[in-house]
Amino acid sequence: MSLTHNTEGEPIGFAAFAAKYATEEACYEKLYEVRKEAGFCCPKCGCTDFYLIKKRKLYQCKACRHQTSLIVGTAMEGTHLPLKKWFWAMYLAATDKRGVSALWIQKQLHMAYNSAWFLMQRIRQMMGMREENYMLMGIISFEDTAIGGAKPHPVQQSRGRRKARVLVGMSKTAKGYPRYAKFVYVKDLKANTIRDVTEKAFEPGAKLENGACPSYRKHIKEKHLTAFAAQDASKEDLLWLRTVVSNIKLLFNGTYHGLDARHMQRYLNEAAYRFNRRKMEDCIFDRLLTAMPGSAHITYRQLTRGPATVYV
Ligand SMILES: [Zn+2]
Repeated sequence: MSLTHNTEGEPIGFAAFAAKYATEEACYEKLYEVRKEAGFCCPKCGCTDFYLIKKRKLYQCKACRHQTSLIVGTAMEGTHLPLKKWFWAMYLAATDKRGVSALWIQKQLHMAYNSAWFLMQRIRQMMGMREENYMLMGIISFEDTAIGGAKPHPVQQSRGRRKARVLVGMSKTAKGYPRYAKFVYVKDLKANTIRDVTEKAFEPGAKLENGACPSYRKHIKEKHLTAFAAQDASKEDLLWLRTVVSNIKLLFNGTYHGLDARHMQRYLNEAAYRFNRRKMEDCIFDRLLTAMPGSAHITYRQLTRGPATVYV
């Protein structure tokens, strides 16, 4: 189990975390703190003044007396699970570098597999929403990779399992060390797909090192002449990118082996969320919980019957 440190610098592992949030009261108390900080807004009249009805885990609008549950307007809306299971799963998803599968959550949190799967998909969805708020800037290593064993993308007519195409972008420090990364599942590597991803993921003015990808390098140069100045990259320049890519491959060949491509982007969200916050371990759970109030919830039906989640 990965260890993190609390604000006093003391080690705090999952056991300590689970003990801290062992009761629904403790979890609601924390959620209330976070929601209060973010600012309540009455869904009926828009008023921001409220009373807390602690016993019923509601807040009541001071103006129209409308009562709203603390979880409404978060990814947890409509959940039947105890809040502590959400907290524990969020903590694990945010901190465990090995990746967190539904099977593992099922065992660790003693719950049905389907509930664990649904819980993790909603957490990954929320992580993705946070990730989409950021674009990479500066010098960016960029290439595509194939991640094995996924079932085909629903729009693909091919039968059987095939490798999923993932675009990996990684911004770097002046000394060449990794800063932030984007992992984007794409259904193909056509010109329009590459263009859409680069426009959404990279700040205008970013400099792409895409020497490894001559096939779409030409396209980026042509279509993004104003935004990007593609530059050659040596093997050494791409070393960190390759390390990140092989770690992602390990994750998908191990923890998430054989997943449905329909959900691929959400698994990538989880990996990107952890990678981009690898130096914030002491506050990573708080940050994820802070993202809660702005998170749309997704239903089981939307997840299982809807189209594949794609980045663009
Ligand atoms: Zn109101």
